[in-house]
Order: sequence, then C-alpha cells, then structure tokens
Amino acid sequence: MELYELGLKEAATKIKNKEISSTELTKSLLDRIEARNGEINAYVTVDRDIALEMAQSSDTRIKEGNPRLIEGVPLGIKDLFCTKGVRTTACSHILDNFIPPYESTVTTNLWNAGGVLLGKTNMDEFAMGSSNESSYFGAVKNPWDLSRTPGGSSGGSAAAVADYQCAASTGSDTGGSIRQPASFTGTVGIKPTYGRCSRFGMVAFASSLDQAGAFARNVEDAALMLRSMSGYDEKDSTSADRPIENYDEKLDQFDIKGLKIGLPKEYFVDGLDPKVKEIIDQSIKNFTDQGAEVVEISLPHTKYAVPAYYIVAPAEAAANLARYDGMRYGLRVEGDNLMDTYMKTRTEGFGMEVKRRIMIGNYTLSSGYYDAYYTKAQRVRALITKDFVDAFEQVDVIFTPTTPTPAFKIGGKVEDPVQMYLNDIFTVATSLAGLPGLSVPAGKMGFEGANLPVGLQMIGPAFSERQLLRTAYAHEQMTKFEPLKA
Ligand code: GLN
Repeated sequence: MELYELGLKEAATKIKNKEISSTELTKSLLDRIEARNGEINAYVTVDRDIALEMAQSSDTRIKEGNPRLIEGVPLGIKDLFCTKGVRTTACSHILDNFIPPYESTVTTNLWNAGGVLLGKTNMDEFAMGSSNESSYFGAVKNPWDLSRTPGGSSGGSAAAVADYQCAASTGSDTGGSIRQPASFTGTVGIKPTYGRCSRFGMVAFASSLDQAGAFARNVEDAALMLRSMSGYDEKDSTSADRPIENYDEKLDQFDIKGLKIGLPKEYFVDGLDPKVKEIIDQSIKNFTDQGAEVVEISLPHTKYAVPAYYIVAPAEAAANLARYDGMRYGLRVEGDNLMDTYMKTRTEGFGMEVKRRIMIGNYTLSSGYYDAYYTKAQRVRALITKDFVDAFEQVDVIFTPTTPTPAFKIGGKVEDPVQMYLNDIFTVATSLAGLPGLSVPAGKMGFEGANLPVGLQMIGPAFSERQLLRTAYAHEQMTKFEPLKA
C-alpha cells in the first residue's frame, strides 16, 4: 500500500505514532498529483514548497510531543477559500491573478488543527455549475470514467479524494455542490447546517445559501474533517454560536431500531433512473431489516425548489459579483473611460454561466419584476422550510437519492442550462431550508457500459450533524461500498 492511499484518521494516527512523517506523506501525495493531475485536472494550484514547509512544521510538533487533531495530513482546498499568499481564483479569469492578503476562517481552523495545504482544487467558476465545466481552468474528469463529469461545483475536491490525490478536502455547497459531486465520485460529502462553518474568506456566491463542508473516502474521515473546520466565528454574522462537536467519536453508538426514516414521495418520481431507485431501495431495506421504520412523508413544495433556487441564488450572485469591477483587485482591462473599463473587465473576466446568472439576477431584482420574482421566490423558500419543519415532527431523518442519475458525460448538458439545473432537483431544497445534508455511496450501477457510484442523501434537522453522521456510518457498515482502486 502506498502512503497516498491512507485515509485522514489513519494518516493522522500513523503520524502521531511516528510510524510515518508528515513530510513522507506529503511527498507521496505531491508525487501522486504530479502523476495524475494531467489527466484528472483536480488541482489548479499546487505549491510544493509551501506544502513541504507546513509538513516540516508538523514533524517538528510531533517531535516536541504536541500533535494536534489532524497533525501533518495534507488536504485539498476548494479554490474559493482564501489562502493567504496562495493564489485563490474561484476558477474565474477575473480572479486568476488574485493572491489573498488574508486567510479564510475554515482554512485557519484546519491549519490550527495541524492540516497541511496540499493544493487548491478545481471548481465551476464562482461555484456556479453542476459539472465543473464552467471552470476557467477546464473540466475535471471523473476518475471512475474519464469521459464523465465528477459533478460540480466542487468537482476537483471530489475527484481528488476519489483518486487518492488527498485523503480529505473542503467543498462549498450552495445548492448541492458538495453532495452531488460526492454522489458522482463515490465519496462521502457533508454540507452542514447553514452557520456551522464560517463563510469568512470564502469567495461569495449566494450568501444566504453558501456553506462550507467536507469530502472524504469514509464517514469517519468526513466527520473528523468537519470537526476540524467548523466552529463559531465572530467575523461572520451568520455564524452559529454553538460549541464544536466531536463528530468523529462514538460513531457506532447508534441504535437503528426505532429510527424513523422519512421518504418524501415527491423525490421518488419520474426522471429518477430506475436503477438508482433500486440501489436506494436496497439501502432503505438494510435499515428496515435492522428495525428502522419507514414513513412516507410529503414535502409538497418540492417542485418549486429548483425555480425558487434559480431566482434567489442568481439575485444574490448578481449583488455579490458587482464588486469585480477591475478597480480593487483581480483582472483589469483598460478602456477609454471608467464605464468602458468596467465593461471590458467584466466582459472578458466572466465566463458564460456567470454572465447568465448576473443577467437573471439583475432582471429578477429590477423594479417592476422584484415582487413577481424575488419576493415570490422568498415566499416559496419559507414554505419549503416549513415543509421540512413539519416532516421532522414525524421522522428523525429523510432519505432520498442524491441525484436522479449517476455521473453524466462531459459535454452532455452544457449546451442546455435548464437540463443542468434540473440535476440539482434533490439537493436545492435542503439548501434553501439551511439544513444539513450528506451523501454517502450506496452502490454502483452499470450505466452505458460504465460502473458508476450512486449516492444516498440523508437530510436532518438543523444542527443534527452528529446524528446524521452516525446514520451514515451505520449505512457504511451495512453497505460495504468499495471505493475506486488506487
Ligand atoms: N449546481 C448549483 C448551481 O449551479 C449549485 C451550486 C453550488 O452548490 N455551489 O447553482
């Protein structure tokens, strides 16, 4: 077994016990990236010197007997977390020369826990997309089948974990960008409750929805990663002032007997691939065999979730992205006058999908249309949130497929934005309600000759991450999903 194959917990334990050094592990992963990144394109920035310097500091702390939670383990960081002194682009041309003068809180927490910055991972431009194809640095390939997308927008983070180019990575999820790529790559992806991780230093897309989260190859590692990155932050006014929980501990202390699992009837409908349904049904059966109870529930406003999301998110994006004007930081294309400079900078700096969102957002926020679109969408959002509140009076957790199909072909949906948006059908409602959701590998299916992973989504009440991770751990024990071979 190669060092790069180690999981997060395994690696941290071996480093702590001095069986391996952080430097050895970091070198092994850097070599793996060098060998594989040309094909997968999971990383957009890798700085060997910084990684080895941080690894060296970890090794010193180990020698001094002061190891921290994930001491010495190299991590992939989605390229929308600002890293001080290390280029942070959100995979947009408009930021491709941006070197942040400050560090995001999530990454600060990870470095304080002993993590090592391995590199910045590829993503859809400004996290807008479901296939990683809107990245300025090109699409990421799914390691399970190189002709397919790993999903998006955190496609690089998911592919890097699946392909053993890091043990764990950060992602961000505004409408599914952690759960959908986790489902497509056979990894575990958790988006915690809105407010659990600080948004400080994350390049903003839609601020009322954006939430950081984690990818790993197993539930315990995802739990450990979340524990290391989350926590209250006074620099983010929407941050939740609650203590950090030891999510990775006592994962097996969980009684499936009596667990009430809600299955929303609106999620098991046309458009859901029958083979995906079969795999999800098997997962549910594993739980009922152990004494869980299944309750059919209704989330009646589900059909409005995609339309409401695609009004709220672009509206917030249009406002957030107004700051890229060529004056303060990022790309500047000189024009004949101030207005011309704004226009040239933004015309050249933003890609197609980002421009589409800015136009939709400005349209829905314009006077005359504001009430018809934006206010209406906010009302729908309140109803969707209430659907979940009602549901959690009857059940402990909700199970759904993460996505209606497994990974689709690169190029398959990019010409048809509505088809692309519909891929988010099972993930956006959770985001609009601010609830925690995760995706765990449920099985694999032959699909057009490929053997692709399928994810089960688990949704819980606000701040139920611990319970959710325990449920996912129980699922993992029963399913025995085999990750990709290194
Ligand atoms: N696919 C969704 C979108 O394009 C979600 C993206 C995300 O969660 N960042 O908006």
